[in-house]
Amino acid sequence: MNDIQALMNKHIRTLTPYSTARDDFKGKAEVLLDANESWFGGSGVNRYPDPRCTELRKKIEDVMSIPFSMSAITNGSDEAIDLLMRIFCAPGDRIVIERPTYGAYRVFADLNNLSVVDVPLKDDYTLDVDKIGAVISGMQPKIIFICSPNNPTGQLYSFESVKAIADMNSGITVIDEAYIDFSGKEGMWRYIYENPRVVVLRTLSKAWALAGARIGIIIASEEIHEAVMKAKPPYNVSELSQRAALSMLDRRDEIESVKEDIIKERKDLSEYFSTLPFISEVFPSDSNFILIRTGDADRLYDYLASKSIIVRNRTSEPLLSGCLRITIGNREENKRLKEALDGYAV
Ligand SMILES: *Cc1c(COP(=O)(O)O)cnc(C)c1O
Repeated sequence: MNDIQALMNKHIRTLTPYSTARDDFKGKAEVLLDANESWFGGSGVNRYPDPRCTELRKKIEDVMSIPFSMSAITNGSDEAIDLLMRIFCAPGDRIVIERPTYGAYRVFADLNNLSVVDVPLKDDYTLDVDKIGAVISGMQPKIIFICSPNNPTGQLYSFESVKAIADMNSGITVIDEAYIDFSGKEGMWRYIYENPRVVVLRTLSKAWALAGARIGIIIASEEIHEAVMKAKPPYNVSELSQRAALSMLDRRDEIESVKEDIIKERKDLSEYFSTLPFISEVFPSDSNFILIRTGDADRLYDYLASKSIIVRNRTSEPLLSGCLRITIGNREENKRLKEALDGYAV
């Protein structure tokens, strides 16, 4: 047993995974009578999907440069968060998250009966490396989740700060890069070669316009990859979703141009928000949304809703009083947002 395996739950290390019909026979054959599928239909969806998402992972390697051997596909990154907790944590174990951050980490921690230590970000919403360092040495968390760029604050954390935390942490550090495509940065998966306790999460839900298909990507070192493949439900990604992902990845030029457009709109909208007297703060964003602060978030939220424009009200979250999170829409939608805000009487 090596260092990484020692971090896993014993029952995961020794787990015999479910062996599907497609695992037992991998060759080409003309008559498939091994999986109790229906012969009816003919579009391919009458068959079970590839449990290992082989074609999709090859395409991801081609298009996103993520090595085939390091990628596993999950039913959205939400499934990835849950799986990693189940592999590395037992009830009562501690995980670390930041405050504020993506709400799913806490929900899945609660579901798995884990104890959550949330460390506040600094006033400028950067990582408090010293405080997290103190929590690491005092509490030996099993997993630290770092969302970068962070939802809902929008900013990418510096490589150095994330690396410092991952290197101090003798447990697993999960870097959730759901919004990395909007940051102009590569992301940190190559760092896994240096520190195999790091796991990077990607998703096709945001920049790749496939939120409805539920495609998450876990990028991990060999031992963790192997554990994920064993522990995940065998048919966790449907045939329809795998196909949708394959065809969207073929449209990378369009995706690239939409992304450029979103980044340009982000700049325009940020500048526009800064001119509004009732918006006191416009936080810098490396994502496809902008966090703003206003005097009365509930009132502004209700006003926009009355104009049929829905944003995310974050005012009741810690450190986010007065804050709304606004997704960058298309030009027409952003124009409607601006027109509505122009008519807001303070
Ligand atoms: C949207 C989002 C995801 C994506 O989740 P999926 O389950 O892949 O749709 C993951 N992490 C963060 C921080 C997000 O905001």
